[in-house]
Amino acid sequence: MTGMLDAGGMFREVTATQVLLSTAYPRIRFVEFAADDEKENGADWLWWWVDRDGTCYGLLVQAKILKLHGKRWSVDFNYKTRGDDRTQLSKLIKAANRFHVPAAYVLYCGDAQYRSALTCDRTHDDFPCKERDRAGVSAVSALVAETAVGLDAKNAGVSTFHDAVPVEDIASPDGLDAPIVPLARVLDQDLERFLRQPRRGSRRVAKELLRPVQRIRHGQFAGAAVMERAAPVTGALFENVPNDYGHFSVPYVAHMLCGLRAEVPGYVRDVLEGRTLPAWLTDHVGGIVVIPDADALPTASPGRVGDGGAGLLSLGFPEAPQPPHDQHPGQAA
Ligand SMILES: [Zn+2]
Repeated sequence: MTGMLDAGGMFREVTATQVLLSTAYPRIRFVEFAADDEKENGADWLWWWVDRDGTCYGLLVQAKILKLHGKRWSVDFNYKTRGDDRTQLSKLIKAANRFHVPAAYVLYCGDAQYRSALTCDRTHDDFPCKERDRAGVSAVSALVAETAVGLDAKNAGVSTFHDAVPVEDIASPDGLDAPIVPLARVLDQDLERFLRQPRRGSRRVAKELLRPVQRIRHGQFAGAAVMERAAPVTGALFENVPNDYGHFSVPYVAHMLCGLRAEVPGYVRDVLEGRTLPAWLTDHVGGIVVIPDADALPTASPGRVGDGGAGLLSLGFPEAPQPPHDQHPGQAA
């Protein structure tokens, strides 16, 4: 992204995805399917985080750019293809339901210099939105975008960027995994523990995607959360989840957690084992990304691939030696 901007150009979704995936390879695995005209723009990809014990989390992902038009930052969530009245956003959520995974966006947001004029009126502890580390490639639930578009379409890009989590951070075991408190008070014990206690790997990815959605739900005056259960998804880690919609178009906990599975789907195993993938898949998605060993310690990762410049340099190289903890720059040893 920086390279294109420095050259006076603009990065694109398809190219940015190819650079991201090829840079993160071989830590991650991916298969890109042949693009036809229909899929050429905005083809959705399936992303799967797979733990060593087979627990995994899948998303149907659409890549989008955080764009600057004049002085306005936007993401074209409401994009429509010619002759089709439905927005990409509603189509993405529908398509995700067919794959029994949640819908999400991966936002390409350039580097800190690109975002230097971005203003966000909400707070992030101590950090301005635009200066967050690694935010150049961030992920967010489509339900967050759906809400943002519904509340204030003009500001939906910035608002969604605010709630997006850097892709590199969503499975980071170092970060704080604060408890998530759903509105439905009576939950299955295992679901309750999952939401309240720190988790790693694919479970943690699911929580990081759910967290901003839950935050939005807390702000909705949609009445008390319903107690009935959503229809269970075969193989889901949590089969008894509340059917609460809030103001979302789907029961949000069920939607966010249907992608969290106890077993690796066959087609994900096919990717990992280099087998040919079925046509029902290759005809309908742009490709598949698999992040194996998602629960492994960060030392197993090849480095940062977002906009933390130093991290990019360390890709594929051993970690730079760290100074001893009791020594600080500018302080005599
Ligand atoms: Zn913000």
